[in-house]
Amino acid sequence: MDYGMIGKIQKAKRYAQELDRIQIESLVVTFDGKNNPHRVHFEDRAWECDCVFFQTRGRCSHTMALEIILEDLLPEGAVVA
Ligand SMILES: [Zn+2]
Repeated sequence: MDYGMIGKIQKAKRYAQELDRIQIESLVVTFDGKNNPHRVHFEDRAWECDCVFFQTRGRCSHTMALEIILEDLLPEGAVVA
């Protein structure tokens, strides 16, 4: 492996510890639900899920699980605790 790549790998490992450098702006996730898979979108600080619960309540177990997982990577105001 060349020195250039070795340096990039070291930098990547350092970056991976510095989560404040990273902000997710958009995301598409397939969530393996109990009955069938659900498609979850995140865009412009807002969640969207195709499950029935989300359609009536604006939040669901799928979006809330992703909020928990991605907490430190989402933009300010995107996570509703
Ligand atoms: Zn859902």
